Amino acid sequence: MNPADQNLNLNLDIKQTSPIVCENEECGNDMFMPAMKFRKASKLLTGTAKDAIVPVQVFFCSACGHSVNITMPP
Ligand SMILES: [Zn+2]
Repeated sequence: MNPADQNLNLNLDIKQTSPIVCENEECGNDMFMPAMKFRKASKLLTGTAKDAIVPVQVFFCSACGHSVNITMPP
């Protein structure tokens, strides 16, 4: 994360932000729903006794279901 990204979390004025809208040009919706994806990492890859499950949070448009690449801060 670069310093510019960190500044976004500090005393942010909502009027200085810009909305993220659906990437589907025919949609343009600005509401998104969270969902989880799960990735399985083979035990051969991780070197552990069992396969590892890695959760990945994703968001999708609440109107058309188009998924968006948004990474939330931890
Ligand atoms: Zn949409």
